[in-house]
Amino acid sequence: MVCVGRAWARCGRAPADLHHRLTRARGGLILDAAGETYHHLRLCRQHHAVAHDKGSAFENGLLIDGYVITGPEGSPVYYGSDPYLGRLYPAVDM
Ligand SMILES: [Zn+2]
Repeated sequence: MVCVGRAWARCGRAPADLHHRLTRARGGLILDAAGETYHHLRLCRQHHAVAHDKGSAFENGLLIDGYVITGPEGSPVYYGSDPYLGRLYPAVDM
């Protein structure tokens, strides 16, 4: 896996894992249930471990800032700095 700006080139190993750039614990599973795939990345086992290294993963795009909860209407609501998620799942006052 070679980082070129915000793009990633394949390392050559077969993708074995589904990486949640918005982790499951921070609402990635809520996005999954809504059919969203923006936060998904297929990685080989070795690079999946690297992708959870919080030292650099936010900076290089392998983890997305913030979290998702189920909003009052039952749909996902995102709190964080990602422009795509912020546009599709805007924060609401609870
Ligand atoms: Zn890899």
